[in-house]
Amino acid sequence: MTEGIDRLRAGLVQACRELAQTGLVVGSAGNVSARNGDLVLVTPTGARLATVAEDELAVVDLDGTLVDGPLLPTSELPLHLAVYRSFAAAGAVVHTHPPMATAVACVADELPCIHYTLLSLGGSVRVAPYATFGTDALAATVVDALRERTAALMGGHGAVTYGPDVAAAMAATQLLEWACGVYVHACACGTPRVLDEQERRVVAEALATYGNPVRVSPAPLP
Ligand SMILES: [Zn+2]
Repeated sequence: MTEGIDRLRAGLVQACRELAQTGLVVGSAGNVSARNGDLVLVTPTGARLATVAEDELAVVDLDGTLVDGPLLPTSELPLHLAVYRSFAAAGAVVHTHPPMATAVACVADELPCIHYTLLSLGGSVRVAPYATFGTDALAATVVDALRERTAALMGGHGAVTYGPDVAAAMAATQLLEWACGVYVHACACGTPRVLDEQERRVVAEALATYGNPVRVSPAPLP
């Protein structure tokens, strides 16, 4: 019954290790999930991502009912499930408390589109209004902030990203944290220039084809 979801266990645990090792979470903060059909594999409540084991992960259905696992799922389960219900492209969700992203989330309403790579997240990144952790209210504000985006900051809290798989959601978190660091440094020495609409449109169009294989006809022999 859980064969498909079981294939995601190793990748999820590897992502948890990487988040802890790179300082994107500390202690028992942060939680990660991946979806397979109607089931979601998610880190358990109170888990330290640095040491969580594959057989400690919880399997739940999209209503949050525990299907398999020795521990209860993360208290942020409503957030993860709300993302899966709201965005069909979501195959994995990463929630963290990264230092730079959280710093920006404590003072700003959005991370402006100051660097072209942010277009891969949808452009500027909204800061969802503060709400208590683990609540449906928090899940609702974050889903609203994620409209047409794959990343959101959470006021007074942290960051969340999603992607088609764990690797993509991780890459989005890493890019978001890097961009927030750039923004903080840029604000310290001046006023960052925000990409205008034309600049954003050109990059968005380029990103739509970037990475797709381009076949080039062999050059004629001399
Ligand atoms: Zn959190």
